[in-house]
Amino acid sequence: MEIKKLNLLGIEVKRPLIISGPCSAETEEQVLNTARQLANKGIKIFRAGIWKPRTKPGGFEGVGKIGLPWMKRVKEETGMLITTEVATPMHVEQALDAGMDILWIGARTSANPFAMQDLADALRGVDIPVLVKNPVNPDLELWIGAMERLNNAGIKRIGAIHRGFSSYDKTIYRNLPQWHIPIELRRRYPELPIICDPSHIGGKRELVAPLCQQAMDLGFDGLIIESHCNPDAAWSDARQQITPDILDYILNLLVIRNEKMTTESLNELRKQIDECDNKLIEILSKRMRISREIGMYKKEHNMTILQTERYSEILEKRGAQGALCGIGSDCVKNIFETIHEESVHQQMEIINK
Ligand code: PEP
Ligand code: MN
Repeated sequence: MEIKKLNLLGIEVKRPLIISGPCSAETEEQVLNTARQLANKGIKIFRAGIWKPRTKPGGFEGVGKIGLPWMKRVKEETGMLITTEVATPMHVEQALDAGMDILWIGARTSANPFAMQDLADALRGVDIPVLVKNPVNPDLELWIGAMERLNNAGIKRIGAIHRGFSSYDKTIYRNLPQWHIPIELRRRYPELPIICDPSHIGGKRELVAPLCQQAMDLGFDGLIIESHCNPDAAWSDARQQITPDILDYILNLLVIRNEKMTTESLNELRKQIDECDNKLIEILSKRMRISREIGMYKKEHNMTILQTERYSEILEKRGAQGALCGIGSDCVKNIFETIHEESVHQQMEIINK
């Protein structure tokens, strides 16, 4: 895939590129009210979902094409560029007719090569920037494949949006960031702009600011952040939306480091450490989930929680493995004692339920 450093607006954009607006367009009033506040804060690109992919039927599936003229009004009144999610060729046609400046493709769509090919065919011969969210599952090849399909159809202005990945294990995130995946994407396509979506990664307001900072520290090119004039009353993703005022506050506090002025190699190493720590936590969470399943088994079979032989086996085996890998055996022993203690604690909770 050949992708030139994207210039989304056709003009030079200062890093970070900011896109903001509600998860969904709900009413004309909500769209315009949010957009006016954002424009006053200097935001240049307005997002709103017109068609909403929902996990289950019955939820709010977006207002559909009646919302398109509202977006058009945003553009005319505020001068902001407008963007929405497209998932079918019909969406593409209607969004282009309504004068969308940028399109984005959602995580459930980028995971489906048939849908991606249909979209690429619908976009053949159209010159519009398209942002592609990572697929819901952590599959870098599938993400790249989705962008390649667009690229092969002649779309040259492509950007990637990192919105985190679904996970079965419970974590503080709605979608696990798994930063190593966008970092690998950057390594493979240094010219491809990558934007972070802290709203869908975090799933809650309080995680938006730290995720924005983390994305900037990792060298992302921009941020797409959900904002709403009245977040608590939002028809979708209420917990993660913030007011335009809070958005402005968060953006003003962001420390934007100039990559060239920092010691590249130290930063690179620290990124790798953060990535290892992230993985450690994810693995620990998975281990605890399995422990709880073992707890269920022991409960059903009337077994005691503490099986001393098994515990000694773990300490011995891992101590030896640690020594082979150059980690002090005391250190490994301490780590596994702590992990084991927490596992026992988790199993006690299951048994006492
Ligand atoms: C959205 O941006 O509102 C959205 C539906 O996102 P995702 O495709 O990342 O779930
Ligand atoms: Mn949303």
